[in-house]
Amino acid sequence: MDLHRPAIGARVHEQRLRADSAGPARRERTPCGYTGAVGQPRRLRVQAHFAESPEPRGGKRKRRPGPLRFVIQEHAASSLHYDFRLEVGGVLQSWAVPKGPSTDPREKRLAVQVEDHPLDYADFEGEIEAGYGAGRVIVWDSGTWESLTDGPVEDALEQGHLSVWLEGEKLRGGWTLQRTRGGAKPQWLLIKRRDEGADARRNPVSTQPESVRTGRTVDEVD
Ligand code: MN
Repeated sequence: MDLHRPAIGARVHEQRLRADSAGPARRERTPCGYTGAVGQPRRLRVQAHFAESPEPRGGKRKRRPGPLRFVIQEHAASSLHYDFRLEVGGVLQSWAVPKGPSTDPREKRLAVQVEDHPLDYADFEGEIEAGYGAGRVIVWDSGTWESLTDGPVEDALEQGHLSVWLEGEKLRGGWTLQRTRGGAKPQWLLIKRRDEGADARRNPVSTQPESVRTGRTVDEVD
């Protein structure tokens, strides 16, 4: 499984140098380098995945009281994408959205389900070292979320349909995640629901590119 472990971490210039010398063979092949490992229990998967990784660790997985967190991290990897992450069951369920979220209900945005991440990763901004996902990351939006779908969120994800209400700084309102293809890299669509947060004229991905944490754009990360 070494092949699949993403070498992620907030390191500095020496790792950028390594990234530069890594060559095309080590570039990521998919948005976020989905690591597969389907069939393993989720928690084991996360632990195996991050056991020797230098990036922020989840530590003890205790349930946090209060609202659930969501984050959208803009990730300038070999192909730019937006990692949409929802706190579910003590981890961040994650999807790589190549075009980012839309506020237009007519837009169906592809969202490729990727590896769960530890909760602490929600605050990560910086440069990811060489390997899958090498590139810069900013916290493009963050806030809290709640499910609009009846029943446990885990069941909704299993069944491939989950609607969420986001209370972010840039995004507010309902979005639906609908799975369209299963297998090793499940594909979903992320679609804005028709509510007061819907706005076909907004295009926050292009008009609000800055980090909600630091005000930097992804190109300004060093
Ligand atoms: Mn990513």
